[in-house]
Amino acid sequence: MNIVSVPNWIRRFYRQAIWKIPTPEKVVYLTFDDGPTPMITESVMDLLDEYNAKATFFCIGSQVEKHERLFQNIQDRGHRVGNHTFNHISGWSSTPKDYLDDVERASQVISSGLFRPPYGRITKKQFNQIKKRYTVVFWDIIPGDFIQGITSKKLLKNTLKYLKSGSVIVFHDSIKCGDVLLETLPVLLEELKQRGYRLEVIPFEY
Ligand SMILES: [Zn+2]
Repeated sequence: MNIVSVPNWIRRFYRQAIWKIPTPEKVVYLTFDDGPTPMITESVMDLLDEYNAKATFFCIGSQVEKHERLFQNIQDRGHRVGNHTFNHISGWSSTPKDYLDDVERASQVISSGLFRPPYGRITKKQFNQIKKRYTVVFWDIIPGDFIQGITSKKLLKNTLKYLKSGSVIVFHDSIKCGDVLLETLPVLLEELKQRGYRLEVIPFEY
């Protein structure tokens, strides 16, 4: 099942996390998970630059270790980074200790007060620990670039269907999603510009 927009009951369960960011201004927040990935992350940033857009990249610690310079480059170009665990583990199949250890390991290479759980899967117990040190950022819209065979047209449609000011949108600058993402992003950025939206980094930090 593809949940493009997150139901309210899930939002209520993690009330202290960020789902979207209420704002009277026309701002949306693009986020890119699972990088940094050579070529793909650079291409994403080049496109963002064309529109003077800033985004937040939730990086995997093991990827950061492999691509340190690219990780630094993300920050040098005015984007923001967040912790997305070291090994991209699911909270549902990890003990709280193992989960926290993995987040901690990632924090040694990713200095950020923002955290996003891989797959959005985190238990309440893990969440309660993590939120002591991080602002936990979920999303408002998950258009589904990871869905096998999704077309750029469908991805764009999913993104725009529920879009409003303050929306937090999740994409993946990974090898798996790179092609469809890079095909969609130019069209999306142009559309957002036409609609008068500014693209900014997630503003909060714990
Ligand atoms: Zn992820």
